[in-house]
Amino acid sequence: MQQYDVVVVGGGIAGLTAAIYAAKAGKQTLIIEKQERLGGRAMSMKKKGAYFNLGGHALYKGDAYATFMDLGIHVQGAEPSIEGYGVWKGKLSILPTDMKSLFTTPLLSWKGKLELAAWLGKLGKMDTHPYDRISIREWVESNLRDPMVRNIFYSLLRTASYVVGPDLPAAGPALKQLQSALKGVLYLDRGWGELVEALRRKASDLGVRFVTNSLVTSIDVQDGSVRHVLCKDGAKIGAHHVVLATPPSIAHQLVPFSEKTALHTWKEQAIEITAACLDVALRRLPKPKQQFVYGIDQTVFLSNQSRAAYLSDDGAQVISVLKYQGKETDPNKDLRELEGMLDLVQPGWREELIVKQYLPKMTVSHDFMHVNGRVNPGPAVPEISGLYVAGDWASHGELLVDAATASAKRAVQHILSLERKERTDLYEHRGIV
Ligand SMILES: Cc1cc2nc3c(=O)[nH]c(=O)nc-3n(C[C@H](O)[C@H](O)[C@H](O)COP(=O)(O)OP(=O)(O)OC[C@H]3O[C@@H](n4cnc5c(N)ncnc54)[C@H](O)[C@@H]3O)c2cc1C
Repeated sequence: MQQYDVVVVGGGIAGLTAAIYAAKAGKQTLIIEKQERLGGRAMSMKKKGAYFNLGGHALYKGDAYATFMDLGIHVQGAEPSIEGYGVWKGKLSILPTDMKSLFTTPLLSWKGKLELAAWLGKLGKMDTHPYDRISIREWVESNLRDPMVRNIFYSLLRTASYVVGPDLPAAGPALKQLQSALKGVLYLDRGWGELVEALRRKASDLGVRFVTNSLVTSIDVQDGSVRHVLCKDGAKIGAHHVVLATPPSIAHQLVPFSEKTALHTWKEQAIEITAACLDVALRRLPKPKQQFVYGIDQTVFLSNQSRAAYLSDDGAQVISVLKYQGKETDPNKDLRELEGMLDLVQPGWREELIVKQYLPKMTVSHDFMHVNGRVNPGPAVPEISGLYVAGDWASHGELLVDAATASAKRAVQHILSLERKERTDLYEHRGIV
C-alpha cells in the first residue's frame, strides 16, 4: 500500500494549489481526480479552432493572481478595456465606468451623473470591510440615492459576485471585487486550461504524483485521525493528511459520521451560485464597437474575450454570454435570453457562427460570502485530525477562484504549523526528560 504525507482529493485549482504548496514544503503529495483531466471548472476545450472556457472567466488581481505570481507561473493574457454598454428597456446605452463615459451616457440625469462621479472617485480607495456583514441591497439603499445609479451598481455588483439577487451576498466582498474589476481583469490566452496546465507542470516538477480517472469513495478515519483514502477501483492509499478539494456536499459524503462534524454545518449553509453560459466563435463581429455589455434591467452579461486574449487560431471572435441564475432555471428560456442578448448586441451573428457551446447550468461557486449567519469553513475539520477542506466555497472573505487558492494555502499552512508545534512539543518534552 502506498503512503503519502498529503493526499489531495480533487484536481481543480484548489487541489492543484494545495498540492503545490505541500510539495514545496517537502511533503510526499498525491492528487486524486475523478475526471480524465485535471482542472475541474477551470478546464477549457478547443472546438473548431476556438478555445472555450466552461463559461466566461476573468482573472481578477486578487489572491489567485498573487498566488500564481508567487509560484513563478506567468499568466498569459491581457486586460480588456472597460468601455462598455448597458442594456436598459431593450436598448443599448453607453455604460458609465469612467469620467468620459459618464458625461456621454444618456442613462443618467445630471444629478445622477454627479452622484456616480463622486462614487467613481472614492470607490477605489474605500475600505470595504465595514460592509462585510450587510447585504448588497442594504449597502446600495443606504449609500446611493439616484434610482439609476442604484440600478447601475446592482448590475456591476451582480457581475462582480455572480449572484443574481442583492439580498444575500455580503456587500464588502462584492465591493472589493468591483474595486479590483475597475482596476482591470485578465482574459487568458487559450483559456483557463493553460493556467491549469501551468499548475500541473509546476506540481509535477515539485514531485507531486497524480491519479486521474479515479473516484474517491471514502476517507478512512480511525481513533479520530485520517488513515486512508479509498477509491472506487479498490485502491487504498495511506495518508497522514487529506485535503478535500471537492464540493462541500462531496466532502460531507466521503467522511464517516460527517453529520457530527463541522462538514455538516458547512454543507448546510452553502448556497450554490449557477449560471447559464453561451459561448460562440464568430468569423467576424457584425458590430465591432459593441463588445462588452452589462444587463441593467436583465441579468445577462456579454463580453468578447478575444478583444484582449488569444482565443482562436484563425482570428475568430470568441464571445461569452452569461445569465446569472436564481432558484428557478429553464434551459430553453435561458438560451432564448442569451441568444436575444446576442441578437441585440451583434445582429446577424448566426450567419457568422463557426461553433457554439451552451452550458445550461454551471456551478460558478459552491458557496459565497452571504449574510445568513455563515461561518467560515476550514481549513481544518476540527473533529478529525489530519482532515482539511479547500475550494471556492471554503472562503474566508474571498470570492470565486481567489477563495479556491486562499483556502488551499490555508489548509497547507495549517498542516505545517501543526507539525511545527508537534516538533516543538517533542523537543520541550525531551528537554524536560
Ligand atoms: C461559468 C463560470 C464562470 C466563472 N467565472 C469566474 C471568474 O470570472 N473569475 C473567477 O475568479 N472565477 C470564476 N469562476 C469560478 C472558478 O472557475 C472556480 O472558482 C474554480 O475553478 C473552482 O476551483 P475548485 O478547485 O474549488 O473546484 P473544482 O474546479 O470544482 O474542482 C473540484 C474537483 O474535484 C473533483 N472531484 C469531486 N469529487 C471527487 C471525488 N469523489 N474523487 C475525486 N475527485 C473528485 C472534481 O472532478 C473537480 O475536478 C467561474 C466558474 C464558472 C462555472
